[in-house]
Amino acid sequence: MPEAKPKTAVPKRLSPGRRQYLEFKEKYQDCLLLFRMGDFYETFDEDAKTMARVLDIALTSRDVGGGLKSPLAGIPHHALGSYLGKLVDAGLKVAVAEQTSDPAQSRGIVDRAVVRVITPGTVSEPSLLAHDRNNYLAAAISDGEQAGLAYIDVSTSEFVTAQFPVSGLRAELDRLAPSELLADRAVRSELGTDGDGAHGPNGSGGSGASMVVRELDETRLDDELAARKLRGHFGVATLEAFGCDGKPLAIAAAAAVIDFLSETQLGALPQVTSLRTQQPDGFMQLDRRALRDLEVFESTTRSPGASTLYRVVNGTVTSLGARLLRRWLARPLLDLPELQTRQDAVAEFTADSVRRATLRELLRAVPDIERLINRVRTYAATPRDLAALSRGLRQIPGILDTTGSSSNGLRNTPVAGLRPCDAVTTLLDAAIAEDPPAVVGEGGAIRSGFDPELDETRGLASDARSAIAAIESSARESTGIKSLKVGYNRVFGYYIEVSRSNLDKVPDYFERRQTLTGGERYITPELKELESRVLNARDRINELERATFRRVCGEVAQSGERVMAAARAIAWLDTVSALADVAAKHGWVRPVLNEGDAVLIKDGRHPVVEAALGPGRFVPNDVSLSNTGEQLIVITGPNMSGKSTYIRQVAVLVLLAQIGSFIPAAEAEIGLVDRIFTRAGLTDNISGGQSTFMVEMIETASILRQATPRSLAVLDEIGRGTSTYDGMAIARAVAEHLHNDPDLGCKTLFATHYHEMTALADALPRAANYRVAVSEDGHDVVFLHRIVPGGADRSYGVHVARLAGMPPSVVARAWTLLEELESSGPAGLRSRDSAAQLPLFTEGSKLAEDLKNLEIEGMTPLEAINALYRLQQEARE
Ligand code: ATP
Repeated sequence: MPEAKPKTAVPKRLSPGRRQYLEFKEKYQDCLLLFRMGDFYETFDEDAKTMARVLDIALTSRDVGGGLKSPLAGIPHHALGSYLGKLVDAGLKVAVAEQTSDPAQSRGIVDRAVVRVITPGTVSEPSLLAHDRNNYLAAAISDGEQAGLAYIDVSTSEFVTAQFPVSGLRAELDRLAPSELLADRAVRSELGTDGDGAHGPNGSGGSGASMVVRELDETRLDDELAARKLRGHFGVATLEAFGCDGKPLAIAAAAAVIDFLSETQLGALPQVTSLRTQQPDGFMQLDRRALRDLEVFESTTRSPGASTLYRVVNGTVTSLGARLLRRWLARPLLDLPELQTRQDAVAEFTADSVRRATLRELLRAVPDIERLINRVRTYAATPRDLAALSRGLRQIPGILDTTGSSSNGLRNTPVAGLRPCDAVTTLLDAAIAEDPPAVVGEGGAIRSGFDPELDETRGLASDARSAIAAIESSARESTGIKSLKVGYNRVFGYYIEVSRSNLDKVPDYFERRQTLTGGERYITPELKELESRVLNARDRINELERATFRRVCGEVAQSGERVMAAARAIAWLDTVSALADVAAKHGWVRPVLNEGDAVLIKDGRHPVVEAALGPGRFVPNDVSLSNTGEQLIVITGPNMSGKSTYIRQVAVLVLLAQIGSFIPAAEAEIGLVDRIFTRAGLTDNISGGQSTFMVEMIETASILRQATPRSLAVLDEIGRGTSTYDGMAIARAVAEHLHNDPDLGCKTLFATHYHEMTALADALPRAANYRVAVSEDGHDVVFLHRIVPGGADRSYGVHVARLAGMPPSVVARAWTLLEELESSGPAGLRSRDSAAQLPLFTEGSKLAEDLKNLEIEGMTPLEAINALYRLQQEARE
């Protein structure tokens, strides 16, 4: 038998489509490439597997030529909007390759081009954006001491950069809560995230989703190149006007943002026309923890109906205002004049309810003109967007009437920038049809009378259509078929339909095209001639509409700055009038703000708890804190009596006051606070494998490191995460340090269930004891939620157990045991009446001596913790 000849290897021939795909993929290696094929966006190879997994859709395969197959997963083109959100949320960069030539006209392969790359920080699709929050792309770099942080909201064009000590970076990112961060290595290690596309922590001010961290190409970070890039982008000779001259890290971060945008928006950045340099000193520092513990944007309670501060004060009626209020809450001010300007405006609108109601009615009719004008500038607007923009801008004269010249208080505010945008509304009203279609290019978007050529072509089309309609009656007459009809469908175009019973009357010049069960369809040369006139005219109309629409967008974009100024003014007005509305409805008052060091509040209420409880049920409380008077307030009281509510209430009211809002109180005087620290004793802080106690200590250490005499610290149950004596010792050491250190000396509210802490008030001159009042009648106890001077002496734990619904038999047994323990309990057990007096340490013991000898003031927090650890070891031996 002759041996079979080995087959010669034939070079594989891929299909032309596959070749085109691979070329794109080569260029967009780090993206998931959506390749438009007819009505679908297809993905291949690894991308197909990723997409099938992320979207939970079928994975199939497809011939790619040369007898080879590739994995394939596709989505229908009309569903792109809904799928895109999921892909981007999964941290993917998505490149969209569209067909750029008409498949029907193309010989061979259809032309395609990647038209954009979408990432979490660069989405601009309205359906993927939350209306009440900004979506930021940020870039951060650090030289070890200073950090540069730039951010942009592509949907509104807000572009800001800043340079500040690197220690403030985390807090800045927390309140900014970008959905995507470009970070150099130093920043990535500061944040503890690594690897491109990794998810990092995202502050509560944001979407709630985590932030995608991308590696910034450090080889491209060059001062001079960055400055040149920014100058080039804005077409300016110097960056002085932007305020970032001499801030190389701010410039480099801003340039990194521009770089990333040019790569993803493929060079089209017409809307990024300005850059603001932010001075971080003008703001109160609020980190993620404080935002969370104070429940500013997210509730930490899981109870149904749990609200947030944002929700309670958000009475805004526009998306513009909702976003601004969110920014204000994440960024309270230290700038007294600016705060007074806001307060003046809130006061004006609080006092004049008629004017407030009129204004809010007008504002209610204003759509998101900031995002609308932005879409116009990038030619992404739809006809309905333009109609909405015009509607919104037409409210301006009315708004100007209500804010009018009488409002001196508004002179130095963004409201001064509000001008009628008549040129835009006149143009849009003339150009855009009354009730325009959702997309341009399918007719009906441009108003007749605007473009002569369009009108003429429409005339031709309508003449031809009338002529077609006339064919019906003339054919009926000539053939004598009364039921003859002219109709249209997408496959055959215009036709004449004759029912079966009349087929014998059909004349010869009718050409048969389609047989139906009930009859036949025909065409005639005349009909086809008219049809081609209609179709040509329709193509021409669509083409003219597209061109006219684009021209209109271009003209409107010329007034972009004026519209943006109007958007800023409207956002501001909406926010202050909303704060006024809340103030008027709930009887809030204007706090006196000053540069002093006191926080004095009479009859303050926690707005979120009050809202949850309903009217009249919240018990108001006073506070008087200052650096010279009562600087450290220790609050003791039973569980569930209102300690946490009280101490958070003080912080929340200070925060509200420093956005310019009125506050729920009878009266208040607040010396501006530079930072609010919170340390909540909740046990849900376990993160990253660290023990609750370790987390608590790290957070406490950070307060001791960063507080200043102008700070406010709200500490709940410090030391709870460890054994009683450790906990008490730490709590006391921390309180002493906060009180005694002259550089620290911050105002502190300390809620604790260690009654022993009340001894602090005797030892420290500026410490005071307060407790939550309790009304007692036998075993019946009512928590009055009223904060009164003095320390609590017992815990009422069994009462709380009863309130919590423990079986009566267990509660009764607990009472018996408690009484036994209190009268004859083992040594060391506190008696009912002497709990507060029990000394912490036995005088003369080694532990007490060692503790006395510690020079806490000279220690770093780490040394303090080490010393404590040593003491603990000794105590255990
Ligand atoms: P724990 O020690 O267990 O953490 P706590 O003393 O900190 O408790 P809070 O959590 O502040 O107590 O309050 C418990 C509940 O008491 C709140 O959910 C609220 O319903 C109610 N409460 C607190 N303060 C007031 C107040 N001033 N007026 C009316 N109700 C209040």
